[in-house]
Amino acid sequence: MAERITGYTELIGLMAYPIRHSSSPAMQNEAFAKLGLDYAYLAFEVDNDTLEDAITGLRALKMRGSNVSMPNKTVVHKYLDELSPAAEMCGAVNTIVNDNGKLTGHITDGIGYMQSLKDNDIDVIGKKMTIVGAGGAATAIEIQAALDGVAEISIFNRKDEFWSNAEKTVEKINTKTNCKATLYDLADLDKLKEEIEDSYLFANATGMGMKPLEGQTYIPDKSFFRKDLIVTDVVYFPRETEMLRMAKEVGCKTMNGLGMMLFQGSAAFELWTGQPMPIEYMKETLG
Ligand code: NAD
Repeated sequence: MAERITGYTELIGLMAYPIRHSSSPAMQNEAFAKLGLDYAYLAFEVDNDTLEDAITGLRALKMRGSNVSMPNKTVVHKYLDELSPAAEMCGAVNTIVNDNGKLTGHITDGIGYMQSLKDNDIDVIGKKMTIVGAGGAATAIEIQAALDGVAEISIFNRKDEFWSNAEKTVEKINTKTNCKATLYDLADLDKLKEEIEDSYLFANATGMGMKPLEGQTYIPDKSFFRKDLIVTDVVYFPRETEMLRMAKEVGCKTMNGLGMMLFQGSAAFELWTGQPMPIEYMKETLG
């Protein structure tokens, strides 16, 4: 550490609360060290009450940038100078880049998901996908998929507090991209089956399958899947959710959320350093 941190080392932050459990500092610092890049990444407990001061501090300290997580993702845009098209459409930011005092907000979660598909040789561009979810992870994936050229997205969600968010996402996709998005109630299982049958890829983008919903899925039975369907999950703890287990039994190609997590970090890394993250090395390190 004494050799690595000098008077020239540039600081990158992670502003969220709670945040001490995050694996991002270990991931980013490992990647900086591997490439010999002179940056250090530290987590800061920042909530909505201290966010404005923290961003003022980021400017004053000439930090290279920061990651932002809950509860700040949907609030931090107020203190920034510019937003990427995806961040603007999502209404959320998870990465800030400081270019000589100009702060730009990006959202890399959707980029991470799309990159993890590519990394698994899955090409959904020009095709149809069905996805369940209307929260932060789902919105980022849906917007990025539409911006990247997925032809059609059928979005399902429960009629809970996230429903209106899904309505807004569908409207934005249909007015601002060439993708056709449609929203359905997750309670309509016949429709869910029909839309999955018509899709190249099915994605879970909710916390279903992860604690406290571990071992559960809203997919009633294996007849919802077919062998040549791709099935993905944003959950990576456990590595194999009940839904992915079911899909594997049918013979589907599956992907958990680990790649999305890695590639969202990799996209942020590249925005700050201009260099790609050493992905194969990081995969070995993350296990
Ligand atoms: P969120 O709270 O913003 O959204 C929750 C979503 O889950 C909503 O769509 C809600 O309607 C749905 N939901 C909740 N309970 C449900 C149930 N019982 N049945 C069906 N739907 C239900 O959460 P988020 O930040 O979008 O995170 C969702 C999941 O994505 C979490 O498991 C999180 O760990 C994971 N995630 C993964 C990555 C990654 O990099 N792999 C990144 C972000 C989030």
